[in-house]
Amino acid sequence: MPLYKEQGIVLRAVKLGEADKIVSILTQGSGKIRAVAKGIRKTTSRFGARLEPMTHVSLLLYRGRNLDTVTQAEIVGSFRAVRGDFALITAGETMLEAVDKVAEEHERNVRLFLLLLSGMRALERRPDDAAAVAESFVLKLLSLSGFHPSLSACAACGTPGPHGWFAAGQGGVVCGTCATNEAGRVSEPAVRWLDLIARIELDGAGDATPPDAVRREARAMLYGFTEYHLDRRMKSFSLLARQAASPASVRLVGTARG
Ligand SMILES: [Zn+2]
Repeated sequence: MPLYKEQGIVLRAVKLGEADKIVSILTQGSGKIRAVAKGIRKTTSRFGARLEPMTHVSLLLYRGRNLDTVTQAEIVGSFRAVRGDFALITAGETMLEAVDKVAEEHERNVRLFLLLLSGMRALERRPDDAAAVAESFVLKLLSLSGFHPSLSACAACGTPGPHGWFAAGQGGVVCGTCATNEAGRVSEPAVRWLDLIARIELDGAGDATPPDAVRREARAMLYGFTEYHLDRRMKSFSLLARQAASPASVRLVGTARG
């Protein structure tokens, strides 16, 4: 069995048998891998907490026919600041879940790995609005996966916006002429907010938060769009939707031109 080295971020870990776990890891060079960590649930395990979700690890693995086996794991970064705060954990879990849903096994995707790394690093800086960082991350992940929502021009005919309709199945905002039965009305500030966090650096996405009503509307659009295009339900969205910015950090961008 060939040995190989990788580095990656642990997406999740599920129990296997009495003492083992199967860990899913988004690696830099080999896409998503699933590997057995033997004996990891024993108190004497040499892996300790190194293969907990959200940990950046350097690995030595054996390639198996179905599953690989982790033989060594060293921590590159543990994102400790993220683990101590519920809002940051929720944002981090949303990122891991979204990545887990789009990443292909053993299919190299360096840009996806770098996006996840920068997402975790942005959370480690303890942004005021961690949920906005996660939402900005999801928009960037959609773009990377070929599903960038149209947030200005009509997704169907290309007529420059702003437009007052939005339909996940049509690809984003649509004009009154193109809007199908599926389309719902949306306000301009909500679309502008999504457009802003789609384009802004992850580090800056948690600095500016719109009024609650705008935020709720934008979330409904983004979450619906994401689940439609990933064709999966995102479990972490319901928790993420309950996260608000800490009051001291709220600055109004609802009227700003994105
Ligand atoms: Zn149109």
